[in-house]
Amino acid sequence: MTEAAEQVLTHRKQQVLEPGLRTPPTDTISPPQSEDESSSVKGLATDTAPKKKSGFSDGDIPDDYVTRTLEREPALPPVQMKNILGEIQWVSFTILTVTPLLALYGIFTTHLSMKTFAWSVFYYFFSGLGITAGYHRLWAHRSYVATRPLEYLLALMGTSAVQGSIHWWARGHRAHHRYTDTDLDPYGAHHGLLWSHLGWMIVKPRRKPGVADISDLRKNPVIKFQHKLYLPLILFMGFILPTIVAGFGWNDWRGGFYYAAVARLVFVHHSTFCVNSLAHWLGEASFDNKMTPRDHFITALVTVGEGYHNFHHQFPMDYRNAVYWHQYDPTKWFIATMKMVGLATHLKKFPDNEVQKGRVAMSLQKINDQQSKLSWPKNYNDLPVISWDDFQEESKTRPLIVIHGFIHDVSSFMDEHPGGRHLLAGRIGKDATVAFNGGLYAHSNAAHNLLSMMRVGVLDGGYQLAIDDIKRTERARAAAAAASASVAAGATGPGAAGGASSAASTATEQADGTPIPEYSTPIPKVEERNIDVKARSYVPPGQVYTILKRGELKANSVAQKNGGKVGRIL
Ligand SMILES: [Zn+2]
Ligand SMILES: [Zn+2]
Repeated sequence: MTEAAEQVLTHRKQQVLEPGLRTPPTDTISPPQSEDESSSVKGLATDTAPKKKSGFSDGDIPDDYVTRTLEREPALPPVQMKNILGEIQWVSFTILTVTPLLALYGIFTTHLSMKTFAWSVFYYFFSGLGITAGYHRLWAHRSYVATRPLEYLLALMGTSAVQGSIHWWARGHRAHHRYTDTDLDPYGAHHGLLWSHLGWMIVKPRRKPGVADISDLRKNPVIKFQHKLYLPLILFMGFILPTIVAGFGWNDWRGGFYYAAVARLVFVHHSTFCVNSLAHWLGEASFDNKMTPRDHFITALVTVGEGYHNFHHQFPMDYRNAVYWHQYDPTKWFIATMKMVGLATHLKKFPDNEVQKGRVAMSLQKINDQQSKLSWPKNYNDLPVISWDDFQEESKTRPLIVIHGFIHDVSSFMDEHPGGRHLLAGRIGKDATVAFNGGLYAHSNAAHNLLSMMRVGVLDGGYQLAIDDIKRTERARAAAAAASASVAAGATGPGAAGGASSAASTATEQADGTPIPEYSTPIPKVEERNIDVKARSYVPPGQVYTILKRGELKANSVAQKNGGKVGRIL
Protein backbone atom coordinates (compact mmCIF):
# COMPACT_ATOMS: atom_id res chain seq x y z
CA MET A 1 0.00 0.00 0.00
CA THR A 2 1.35 3.46 -0.86
CA GLU A 3 1.96 6.08 1.78
CA ALA A 4 -0.77 8.32 0.42
CA ALA A 5 -3.27 5.49 0.35
CA GLU A 6 -2.42 4.67 3.94
CA GLN A 7 -2.99 8.28 4.90
CA VAL A 8 -6.36 8.21 3.23
CA LEU A 9 -7.29 5.03 5.06
CA THR A 10 -6.19 6.46 8.42
CA HIS A 11 -8.11 9.61 7.71
CA ARG A 12 -11.23 7.68 6.76
CA LYS A 13 -10.96 5.63 9.97
CA GLN A 14 -10.80 8.86 11.94
CA GLN A 15 -13.87 10.08 10.13
CA VAL A 16 -15.80 7.05 11.30
CA LEU A 17 -14.54 7.36 14.87
CA GLU A 18 -14.76 11.11 15.31
CA PRO A 19 -17.92 12.80 14.17
CA GLY A 20 -16.22 16.18 14.08
CA LEU A 21 -13.73 15.01 11.50
CA ARG A 22 -16.25 13.99 8.92
CA THR A 23 -15.73 15.40 5.50
CA PRO A 24 -19.22 15.42 4.07
CA PRO A 25 -19.76 15.10 0.36
CA THR A 26 -20.48 18.40 -1.27
CA ASP A 27 -21.55 18.70 -4.82
CA THR A 28 -23.29 21.20 -6.95
CA ILE A 29 -26.41 19.24 -7.66
CA SER A 30 -27.44 17.11 -4.72
CA PRO A 31 -28.57 18.74 -1.52
CA PRO A 32 -26.46 18.13 1.56
CA GLN A 33 -26.95 14.90 3.44
CA SER A 34 -28.59 16.63 6.41
CA GLU A 35 -25.22 17.94 7.43
CA ASP A 36 -25.08 19.07 11.01
CA GLU A 37 -22.74 22.04 11.38
CA SER A 38 -22.69 21.73 15.13
CA SER A 39 -20.90 18.40 14.88
CA SER A 40 -17.80 20.27 13.86
CA VAL A 41 -17.53 22.21 17.07
CA LYS A 42 -18.73 19.36 19.25
CA GLY A 43 -16.39 16.84 17.73
CA LEU A 44 -13.51 19.23 17.83
CA ALA A 45 -13.82 20.32 21.39
CA THR A 46 -14.92 17.14 23.16
CA ASP A 47 -12.14 17.49 25.74
CA THR A 48 -12.54 21.09 26.80
CA ALA A 49 -15.65 22.79 25.48
CA PRO A 50 -18.74 22.87 27.67
CA LYS A 51 -21.88 21.17 26.45
CA LYS A 52 -23.69 23.06 23.72
CA LYS A 53 -26.49 25.14 25.18
CA SER A 54 -27.27 27.78 22.59
CA GLY A 55 -29.37 27.18 19.53
CA PHE A 56 -26.47 28.19 17.29
CA SER A 57 -24.07 25.71 15.77
CA ASP A 58 -21.21 28.08 16.62
CA GLY A 59 -22.60 29.04 20.02
CA ASP A 60 -19.77 27.33 21.89
CA ILE A 61 -17.04 27.88 19.38
CA PRO A 62 -13.64 28.07 21.15
CA ASP A 63 -11.64 31.29 20.80
CA ASP A 64 -8.79 29.48 19.07
CA TYR A 65 -11.13 27.52 16.80
CA VAL A 66 -9.25 28.14 13.55
CA THR A 67 -5.74 27.27 14.72
CA ARG A 68 -6.99 24.42 16.85
CA THR A 69 -8.98 22.89 14.00
CA LEU A 70 -6.15 23.24 11.54
CA GLU A 71 -3.79 21.59 14.02
CA ARG A 72 -6.01 18.78 15.16
CA GLU A 73 -7.92 17.85 12.05
CA PRO A 74 -5.59 16.44 9.46
CA ALA A 75 -6.38 17.42 5.90
CA LEU A 76 -6.82 14.77 3.24
CA PRO A 77 -3.61 14.19 1.29
CA PRO A 78 -3.10 16.36 -1.78
CA VAL A 79 -4.75 15.23 -4.98
CA GLN A 80 -2.21 13.65 -7.31
CA MET A 81 -2.37 11.60 -10.47
CA LYS A 82 -2.08 8.37 -8.52
CA ASN A 83 -5.08 9.05 -6.24
CA ILE A 84 -7.22 11.28 -8.42
CA LEU A 85 -9.83 8.66 -9.41
CA GLY A 86 -10.67 7.98 -5.78
CA GLU A 87 -10.89 11.69 -4.96
CA ILE A 88 -13.27 12.93 -7.64
CA GLN A 89 -16.80 13.97 -6.69
CA TRP A 90 -18.48 12.26 -9.57
CA VAL A 91 -21.86 14.03 -9.50
CA SER A 92 -20.35 17.51 -9.67
CA PHE A 93 -17.66 16.33 -12.05
CA THR A 94 -20.24 14.91 -14.45
CA ILE A 95 -22.42 18.01 -14.40
CA LEU A 96 -19.48 20.37 -14.81
CA THR A 97 -18.05 18.43 -17.74
CA VAL A 98 -21.15 17.15 -19.52
CA THR A 99 -23.00 20.47 -19.64
CA PRO A 100 -20.19 22.39 -21.41
CA LEU A 101 -19.72 19.52 -23.89
CA LEU A 102 -23.45 19.36 -24.53
CA ALA A 103 -23.57 23.15 -24.97
CA LEU A 104 -20.71 23.01 -27.50
CA TYR A 105 -22.44 20.23 -29.41
CA GLY A 106 -25.69 22.24 -29.41
CA ILE A 107 -24.02 25.47 -30.52
CA PHE A 108 -22.40 23.76 -33.51
CA THR A 109 -25.50 21.84 -34.56
CA THR A 110 -28.41 24.15 -33.72
CA HIS A 111 -29.57 27.36 -35.36
CA LEU A 112 -29.87 30.26 -32.92
CA SER A 113 -32.94 32.42 -33.55
CA MET A 114 -33.15 35.97 -32.24
CA LYS A 115 -36.06 35.03 -29.99
CA THR A 116 -34.20 32.11 -28.46
CA PHE A 117 -31.11 34.27 -28.04
CA ALA A 118 -33.12 36.96 -26.22
CA TRP A 119 -34.84 34.31 -24.09
CA SER A 120 -31.48 32.71 -23.21
CA VAL A 121 -30.00 36.06 -22.18
CA PHE A 122 -33.09 36.82 -20.13
CA TYR A 123 -32.98 33.41 -18.49
CA TYR A 124 -29.26 33.87 -17.77
CA PHE A 125 -30.06 37.00 -15.76
CA PHE A 126 -33.08 35.25 -14.24
CA SER A 127 -30.86 32.43 -12.88
CA GLY A 128 -27.96 34.73 -12.11
CA LEU A 129 -30.09 37.06 -10.02
CA GLY A 130 -31.55 34.04 -8.23
CA ILE A 131 -28.02 33.31 -7.04
CA THR A 132 -26.77 36.86 -6.44
CA ALA A 133 -29.90 38.51 -5.05
CA GLY A 134 -31.31 35.34 -3.49
CA TYR A 135 -28.73 32.73 -2.47
CA HIS A 136 -26.01 35.28 -1.84
CA ARG A 137 -27.29 38.63 -0.62
CA LEU A 138 -30.63 37.51 0.87
CA TRP A 139 -29.95 34.11 2.42
CA ALA A 140 -26.18 33.93 2.94
CA HIS A 141 -25.86 37.56 4.12
CA ARG A 142 -29.36 38.70 5.19
CA SER A 143 -28.67 42.06 3.56
CA TYR A 144 -32.40 42.80 3.17
CA VAL A 145 -35.78 41.33 4.01
CA ALA A 146 -37.81 39.77 1.20
CA THR A 147 -41.55 39.22 1.29
CA ARG A 148 -42.69 35.60 1.00
CA PRO A 149 -43.66 35.83 -2.69
CA LEU A 150 -40.24 37.29 -3.54
CA GLU A 151 -38.53 34.56 -1.51
CA TYR A 152 -40.35 31.86 -3.49
CA LEU A 153 -39.52 33.60 -6.75
CA LEU A 154 -35.84 33.92 -5.80
CA ALA A 155 -35.73 30.28 -4.69
CA LEU A 156 -37.06 29.17 -8.08
CA MET A 157 -34.72 31.54 -9.92
CA GLY A 158 -31.75 30.25 -7.92
CA THR A 159 -32.76 26.65 -8.45
CA SER A 160 -32.56 27.18 -12.21
CA ALA A 161 -28.83 27.86 -11.78
CA VAL A 162 -28.27 24.28 -10.55
CA GLN A 163 -25.79 25.18 -7.82
CA GLY A 164 -26.98 23.09 -4.89
CA SER A 165 -29.65 23.95 -2.37
CA ILE A 166 -29.87 27.33 -0.64
CA HIS A 167 -29.08 25.57 2.62
CA TRP A 168 -25.83 24.05 1.35
CA TRP A 169 -24.78 27.07 -0.69
CA ALA A 170 -25.33 29.66 2.05
CA ARG A 171 -23.63 27.48 4.67
CA GLY A 172 -20.50 27.18 2.50
CA HIS A 173 -20.55 30.87 1.70
CA ARG A 174 -20.79 31.90 5.34
CA ALA A 175 -17.73 29.73 5.99
CA HIS A 176 -16.00 31.41 3.04
CA HIS A 177 -16.50 34.83 4.62
CA ARG A 178 -15.60 33.77 8.11
CA TYR A 179 -12.47 31.81 7.21
CA THR A 180 -11.36 33.66 4.05
CA ASP A 181 -7.92 32.56 2.87
CA THR A 182 -7.60 29.77 5.43
CA ASP A 183 -8.03 26.05 4.86
CA LEU A 184 -11.42 26.26 6.56
CA ASP A 185 -12.66 28.36 3.63
CA PRO A 186 -14.30 25.80 1.31
CA TYR A 187 -13.03 27.64 -1.75
CA GLY A 188 -9.95 29.37 -0.35
CA ALA A 189 -8.34 31.55 -3.01
CA HIS A 190 -4.92 30.83 -1.51
CA HIS A 191 -5.05 27.42 -3.23
CA GLY A 192 -4.99 29.08 -6.65
CA LEU A 193 -7.37 30.26 -9.32
CA LEU A 194 -8.30 26.81 -10.61
CA TRP A 195 -9.09 25.46 -7.16
CA SER A 196 -11.28 28.41 -6.19
CA HIS A 197 -13.03 28.37 -9.56
CA LEU A 198 -14.04 24.72 -9.71
CA GLY A 199 -11.35 22.45 -8.29
CA TRP A 200 -13.02 22.54 -4.87
CA MET A 201 -16.21 21.02 -6.36
CA ILE A 202 -14.59 18.49 -8.64
CA VAL A 203 -12.49 16.76 -5.99
CA LYS A 204 -13.52 15.91 -2.47
CA PRO A 205 -12.89 18.75 -0.02
CA ARG A 206 -9.52 18.39 1.66
CA ARG A 207 -11.12 19.58 4.87
CA LYS A 208 -14.59 20.08 6.21
CA PRO A 209 -15.49 23.80 5.87
CA GLY A 210 -15.25 25.77 9.12
CA VAL A 211 -18.32 25.90 11.28
CA ALA A 212 -20.92 28.54 10.35
CA ASP A 213 -24.33 28.97 11.88
CA ILE A 214 -27.37 28.64 9.60
CA SER A 215 -30.02 28.17 12.28
CA ASP A 216 -31.96 31.08 10.73
CA LEU A 217 -32.09 29.29 7.38
CA ARG A 218 -33.23 26.01 8.94
CA LYS A 219 -36.44 27.68 10.10
CA ASN A 220 -37.22 29.22 6.73
CA PRO A 221 -40.20 27.46 5.02
CA VAL A 222 -39.05 28.55 1.55
CA ILE A 223 -35.65 26.94 2.08
CA LYS A 224 -37.31 23.83 3.50
CA PHE A 225 -39.60 23.68 0.46
CA GLN A 226 -36.65 23.93 -1.93
CA HIS A 227 -34.65 21.39 0.07
CA LYS A 228 -37.49 18.85 -0.01
CA LEU A 229 -38.26 19.14 -3.71
CA TYR A 230 -34.74 19.86 -4.85
CA LEU A 231 -34.33 17.24 -7.61
CA PRO A 232 -37.67 17.76 -9.39
CA LEU A 233 -37.18 21.52 -9.04
CA ILE A 234 -33.80 21.61 -10.73
CA LEU A 235 -35.03 19.43 -13.55
CA PHE A 236 -37.98 21.73 -14.10
CA MET A 237 -36.33 25.11 -13.53
CA GLY A 238 -32.94 24.19 -14.98
CA PHE A 239 -34.00 22.32 -18.11
CA ILE A 240 -37.74 21.87 -18.72
CA LEU A 241 -38.96 25.47 -18.28
CA PRO A 242 -36.36 27.13 -20.55
CA THR A 243 -37.05 24.50 -23.20
CA ILE A 244 -40.85 24.60 -23.16
CA VAL A 245 -41.02 28.39 -23.21
CA ALA A 246 -39.08 28.41 -26.49
CA GLY A 247 -40.95 25.32 -27.69
CA PHE A 248 -44.49 26.48 -27.03
CA GLY A 249 -43.60 30.12 -27.56
CA TRP A 250 -41.99 30.06 -31.03
CA ASN A 251 -41.60 26.36 -31.74
CA ASP A 252 -37.86 26.23 -31.08
CA TRP A 253 -37.63 23.19 -28.79
CA ARG A 254 -34.10 22.29 -29.77
CA GLY A 255 -32.82 25.88 -29.46
CA GLY A 256 -34.63 26.25 -26.14
CA PHE A 257 -32.89 23.17 -24.79
CA TYR A 258 -29.37 23.81 -26.08
CA TYR A 259 -29.22 27.58 -25.67
CA ALA A 260 -31.66 28.66 -22.95
CA ALA A 261 -31.19 25.55 -20.82
CA VAL A 262 -27.74 24.05 -21.31
CA ALA A 263 -25.50 26.85 -22.66
CA ARG A 264 -27.18 29.35 -20.34
CA LEU A 265 -26.48 27.01 -17.41
CA VAL A 266 -22.78 26.77 -18.31
CA PHE A 267 -22.57 30.58 -18.42
CA VAL A 268 -24.36 30.95 -15.08
CA HIS A 269 -22.12 28.32 -13.48
CA HIS A 270 -18.90 30.02 -14.52
CA SER A 271 -20.35 33.43 -13.76
CA THR A 272 -20.88 32.39 -10.14
CA PHE A 273 -17.56 30.52 -9.98
CA CYS A 274 -15.83 33.77 -11.00
CA VAL A 275 -16.98 35.32 -7.72
CA ASN A 276 -14.82 32.78 -5.93
CA SER A 277 -11.91 32.87 -8.36
CA LEU A 278 -11.65 36.08 -10.39
CA ALA A 279 -13.03 38.28 -7.60
CA HIS A 280 -10.21 37.05 -5.35
CA TRP A 281 -7.55 37.60 -7.96
CA LEU A 282 -8.19 40.53 -10.33
CA GLY A 283 -8.33 44.19 -9.38
CA GLU A 284 -7.86 46.63 -6.57
CA ALA A 285 -7.91 46.17 -2.82
CA SER A 286 -9.86 49.40 -2.39
CA PHE A 287 -10.69 48.96 1.29
CA ASP A 288 -8.34 46.38 2.79
CA ASN A 289 -5.39 44.44 1.38
CA LYS A 290 -4.97 41.93 4.19
CA MET A 291 -6.93 39.33 2.26
CA THR A 292 -7.45 38.28 -1.36
CA PRO A 293 -10.83 39.83 -2.33
CA ARG A 294 -10.52 42.46 -5.07
CA ASP A 295 -12.68 45.03 -6.87
CA HIS A 296 -12.86 45.01 -10.66
CA PHE A 297 -15.32 46.08 -13.32
CA ILE A 298 -14.70 43.00 -15.47
CA THR A 299 -15.55 40.70 -12.57
CA ALA A 300 -18.72 42.73 -11.99
CA LEU A 301 -19.61 42.37 -15.65
CA VAL A 302 -19.34 38.58 -15.67
CA THR A 303 -20.95 38.00 -12.26
CA VAL A 304 -24.15 40.07 -12.48
CA GLY A 305 -22.57 42.74 -10.31
CA GLU A 306 -20.63 40.77 -7.72
CA GLY A 307 -17.32 42.25 -8.85
CA TYR A 308 -16.71 44.76 -6.07
CA HIS A 309 -15.67 41.91 -3.86
CA ASN A 310 -13.15 43.77 -1.71
CA PHE A 311 -15.98 46.05 -0.65
CA HIS A 312 -18.25 43.03 -0.19
CA HIS A 313 -15.86 41.23 2.16
CA GLN A 314 -15.50 44.44 4.18
CA PHE A 315 -19.23 45.13 4.35
CA PRO A 316 -20.85 41.73 3.73
CA MET A 317 -24.27 42.73 5.03
CA ASP A 318 -24.56 45.68 2.67
CA TYR A 319 -27.13 44.93 -0.06
CA ARG A 320 -24.80 46.64 -2.53
CA ASN A 321 -21.55 45.45 -4.05
CA ALA A 322 -21.01 48.67 -5.95
CA VAL A 323 -21.29 51.84 -3.90
CA TYR A 324 -21.22 54.30 -6.76
CA TRP A 325 -24.12 54.80 -9.19
CA HIS A 326 -21.85 54.41 -12.21
CA GLN A 327 -20.51 51.01 -11.14
CA TYR A 328 -22.12 47.92 -12.65
CA ASP A 329 -24.28 46.09 -10.10
CA PRO A 330 -27.55 44.81 -11.59
CA THR A 331 -28.18 42.80 -8.41
CA LYS A 332 -28.28 46.02 -6.41
CA TRP A 333 -30.61 47.55 -9.00
CA PHE A 334 -32.83 44.46 -8.83
CA ILE A 335 -33.07 44.61 -5.01
CA ALA A 336 -33.77 48.35 -5.10
CA THR A 337 -36.52 47.76 -7.67
CA MET A 338 -38.03 45.05 -5.46
CA LYS A 339 -38.09 47.60 -2.67
CA MET A 340 -39.83 50.11 -4.93
CA VAL A 341 -42.58 47.64 -5.80
CA GLY A 342 -42.99 46.69 -2.14
CA LEU A 343 -41.47 43.20 -2.26
CA ALA A 344 -38.30 43.94 -0.28
CA THR A 345 -37.68 45.97 2.88
CA HIS A 346 -34.88 46.76 5.34
CA LEU A 347 -32.13 47.10 2.74
CA LYS A 348 -28.91 47.28 4.76
CA LYS A 349 -26.31 49.90 3.97
CA PHE A 350 -23.08 50.57 5.85
CA PRO A 351 -22.68 54.24 6.78
CA ASP A 352 -20.81 56.15 4.12
CA ASN A 353 -18.47 57.53 6.77
CA GLU A 354 -17.22 54.00 7.54
CA VAL A 355 -16.95 53.12 3.86
CA GLN A 356 -14.84 56.22 3.20
CA LYS A 357 -12.54 55.36 6.11
CA GLY A 358 -11.56 52.15 4.30
CA ARG A 359 -10.69 54.05 1.15
CA VAL A 360 -8.72 56.68 3.04
CA ALA A 361 -6.78 54.02 4.96
CA MET A 362 -5.73 52.35 1.72
CA SER A 363 -4.78 55.70 0.15
CA LEU A 364 -2.65 56.52 3.17
CA GLN A 365 -1.01 53.13 3.00
CA LYS A 366 -0.11 53.71 -0.64
CA ILE A 367 1.32 57.14 0.15
CA ASN A 368 3.31 55.68 3.03
CA ASP A 369 4.73 53.05 0.72
CA GLN A 370 5.75 55.74 -1.77
CA GLN A 371 7.22 57.85 1.01
CA SER A 372 9.28 54.99 2.39
CA LYS A 373 10.99 54.62 -0.99
CA LEU A 374 12.30 58.22 -0.89
CA SER A 375 15.16 59.57 1.19
CA TRP A 376 14.28 62.23 3.73
CA PRO A 377 16.29 64.74 5.72
CA LYS A 378 17.92 63.79 8.97
CA ASN A 379 15.71 64.23 11.99
CA TYR A 380 16.75 67.20 14.13
CA ASN A 381 17.25 64.81 16.98
CA ASP A 382 20.04 63.06 15.10
CA LEU A 383 21.96 66.23 14.26
CA PRO A 384 24.64 67.82 16.47
CA VAL A 385 23.66 70.97 18.37
CA ILE A 386 26.08 73.77 17.56
CA SER A 387 26.61 77.07 19.33
CA TRP A 388 26.35 80.30 17.35
CA ASP A 389 30.04 81.01 17.87
CA ASP A 390 31.11 77.55 16.68
CA PHE A 391 28.85 77.92 13.66
CA GLN A 392 30.44 81.19 12.72
CA GLU A 393 33.92 79.83 13.27
CA GLU A 394 33.31 76.84 11.02
CA SER A 395 31.63 79.04 8.39
CA LYS A 396 35.05 80.49 7.69
CA THR A 397 36.16 77.17 6.15
CA ARG A 398 32.91 75.87 4.57
CA PRO A 399 29.69 77.46 3.25
CA LEU A 400 27.27 77.14 6.19
CA ILE A 401 23.96 79.00 6.39
CA VAL A 402 21.33 78.92 9.13
CA ILE A 403 17.68 78.66 8.06
CA HIS A 404 14.83 77.59 10.38
CA GLY A 405 17.32 76.92 13.15
CA PHE A 406 19.12 74.27 11.08
CA ILE A 407 22.68 74.69 9.89
CA HIS A 408 22.99 73.81 6.20
CA ASP A 409 26.11 73.03 4.22
CA VAL A 410 25.32 74.53 0.82
CA SER A 411 28.64 73.68 -0.85
CA SER A 412 26.98 71.27 -3.32
CA PHE A 413 24.39 73.88 -4.21
CA MET A 414 26.37 77.07 -4.60
CA ASP A 415 26.48 76.85 -8.41
CA GLU A 416 23.03 75.31 -8.72
CA HIS A 417 21.14 78.04 -6.86
CA PRO A 418 18.58 79.46 -9.34
CA GLY A 419 18.91 82.94 -7.83
CA GLY A 420 22.68 82.93 -8.30
CA ARG A 421 25.75 81.96 -6.31
CA HIS A 422 26.23 85.46 -4.93
CA LEU A 423 22.99 85.38 -2.91
CA LEU A 424 24.19 82.30 -1.05
CA ALA A 425 27.74 83.57 -0.71
CA GLY A 426 26.44 86.74 0.92
CA ARG A 427 24.71 84.75 3.67
CA ILE A 428 27.42 82.34 4.73
CA GLY A 429 27.79 82.43 8.50
CA LYS A 430 24.41 84.14 8.83
CA ASP A 431 20.77 83.35 9.59
CA ALA A 432 18.90 83.54 6.27
CA THR A 433 15.48 82.45 7.54
CA VAL A 434 13.75 85.72 6.70
CA ALA A 435 15.38 86.00 3.28
CA PHE A 436 14.49 82.38 2.46
CA ASN A 437 10.85 82.73 3.52
CA GLY A 438 9.85 85.70 1.48
CA GLY A 439 12.14 88.48 2.74
CA LEU A 440 13.99 88.04 -0.53
CA TYR A 441 12.11 85.20 -2.14
CA ALA A 442 9.31 82.90 -0.94
CA HIS A 443 10.91 79.60 -1.79
CA SER A 444 8.86 76.72 -3.18
CA ASN A 445 8.08 73.44 -1.45
CA ALA A 446 10.71 71.83 -3.66
CA ALA A 447 13.26 74.33 -2.37
CA HIS A 448 12.25 73.58 1.22
CA ASN A 449 12.69 69.87 0.58
CA LEU A 450 16.04 70.30 -1.13
CA LEU A 451 17.30 72.61 1.59
CA SER A 452 16.36 70.14 4.29
CA MET A 453 18.62 67.53 2.68
CA MET A 454 21.63 69.84 3.33
CA ARG A 455 21.23 69.90 7.11
CA VAL A 456 24.43 69.32 9.04
CA GLY A 457 23.55 70.63 12.47
CA VAL A 458 21.06 72.35 14.74
CA LEU A 459 21.75 75.82 16.02
CA ASP A 460 21.84 76.00 19.81
CA GLY A 461 18.85 78.22 20.65
CA GLY A 462 17.32 77.95 17.22
CA TYR A 463 17.89 81.43 15.75
CA GLN A 464 20.59 84.03 15.79
CA LEU A 465 18.23 86.48 17.42
CA ALA A 466 17.14 83.89 19.94
CA ILE A 467 20.77 83.62 20.97
CA ASP A 468 20.96 87.39 21.34
CA ASP A 469 17.78 87.28 23.35
CA ILE A 470 19.16 84.60 25.62
CA LYS A 471 22.28 86.67 26.22
CA ARG A 472 20.14 89.71 27.00
CA THR A 473 18.08 87.65 29.43
CA GLU A 474 21.20 86.31 31.09
CA ARG A 475 22.56 89.84 31.57
CA ALA A 476 19.23 91.02 33.02
CA ARG A 477 19.09 88.01 35.33
CA ALA A 478 22.62 88.67 36.62
CA ALA A 479 21.87 92.36 37.17
CA ALA A 480 18.67 91.53 39.03
CA ALA A 481 20.49 89.01 41.20
CA ALA A 482 23.21 91.52 42.04
CA ALA A 483 20.69 94.26 42.84
CA SER A 484 18.61 92.06 45.13
CA ALA A 485 21.77 90.74 46.82
CA SER A 486 22.77 94.28 47.75
CA VAL A 487 19.25 95.03 49.01
CA ALA A 488 19.33 91.87 51.12
CA ALA A 489 22.77 92.70 52.47
CA GLY A 490 21.51 96.13 53.54
CA ALA A 491 18.53 94.67 55.40
CA THR A 492 20.00 91.72 57.30
CA GLY A 493 23.71 92.22 57.25
CA PRO A 494 26.43 90.28 55.41
CA GLY A 495 26.51 86.51 55.80
CA ALA A 496 22.86 86.22 56.80
CA ALA A 497 21.39 82.89 55.71
CA GLY A 498 18.23 84.52 54.31
CA GLY A 499 20.26 86.69 51.94
CA ALA A 500 21.05 84.01 49.42
CA SER A 501 17.52 82.65 49.33
CA SER A 502 16.09 86.12 48.91
CA ALA A 503 18.47 86.73 46.01
CA ALA A 504 17.39 83.50 44.39
CA SER A 505 13.69 84.25 44.73
CA THR A 506 13.96 87.69 43.21
CA ALA A 507 16.03 86.44 40.29
CA THR A 508 12.80 86.03 38.27
CA GLU A 509 12.41 89.80 38.21
CA GLN A 510 14.50 92.45 36.61
CA ALA A 511 15.98 95.38 38.54
CA ASP A 512 12.94 97.53 37.78
CA GLY A 513 10.57 94.84 39.03
CA THR A 514 9.27 93.66 35.63
CA PRO A 515 9.41 89.88 35.09
CA ILE A 516 12.38 88.48 33.19
CA PRO A 517 11.28 86.65 30.05
CA GLU A 518 11.59 82.83 30.08
CA TYR A 519 15.08 81.54 29.37
CA SER A 520 13.95 79.74 26.25
CA THR A 521 12.13 82.71 24.75
CA PRO A 522 11.49 81.93 21.08
CA ILE A 523 12.09 84.21 18.14
CA PRO A 524 11.30 87.85 18.80
CA LYS A 525 8.31 89.18 16.85
CA VAL A 526 10.36 91.66 14.88
CA GLU A 527 12.14 88.73 13.22
CA GLU A 528 8.93 87.32 11.86
CA ARG A 529 7.44 90.35 10.20
CA ASN A 530 8.78 89.67 6.70
CA ILE A 531 8.38 85.91 6.74
CA ASP A 532 5.90 84.54 4.24
CA VAL A 533 3.31 82.79 6.37
CA LYS A 534 2.61 79.92 3.98
CA ALA A 535 6.25 79.22 3.34
CA ARG A 536 7.09 79.39 7.02
CA SER A 537 4.42 76.87 7.91
CA TYR A 538 5.50 74.41 5.23
CA VAL A 539 6.31 71.04 6.73
CA PRO A 540 8.57 68.81 4.66
CA PRO A 541 6.68 65.52 4.15
CA GLY A 542 7.96 62.72 6.30
CA GLN A 543 8.86 64.97 9.17
CA VAL A 544 7.06 67.27 11.49
CA TYR A 545 9.04 70.45 11.48
CA THR A 546 9.84 71.70 14.94
CA ILE A 547 11.80 74.76 15.90
CA LEU A 548 14.08 73.68 18.66
CA LYS A 549 13.89 75.35 22.00
CA ARG A 550 16.55 75.04 24.61
CA GLY A 551 14.37 72.86 26.80
CA GLU A 552 14.11 70.28 24.05
CA LEU A 553 17.81 69.83 23.57
CA LYS A 554 17.92 67.21 26.29
CA ALA A 555 16.12 64.88 23.90
CA ASN A 556 18.76 65.35 21.22
CA SER A 557 20.75 62.13 21.00
CA VAL A 558 23.85 63.85 19.63
CA ALA A 559 23.70 66.49 22.38
CA GLN A 560 23.39 63.73 24.97
CA LYS A 561 26.47 61.98 23.59
CA ASN A 562 28.35 65.27 23.82
CA GLY A 563 27.57 65.97 27.43
CA GLY A 564 24.22 67.62 26.81
CA LYS A 565 25.34 70.73 25.00
CA VAL A 566 27.08 71.08 21.71
CA GLY A 567 28.67 68.72 19.23
CA ARG A 568 30.71 68.86 16.05
CA ILE A 569 29.01 69.89 12.83
CA LEU A 570 28.53 66.87 10.59
ZN1 LIG B 1 -15.11 36.02 -1.50
ZN1 LIG C 1 -20.62 37.02 0.17
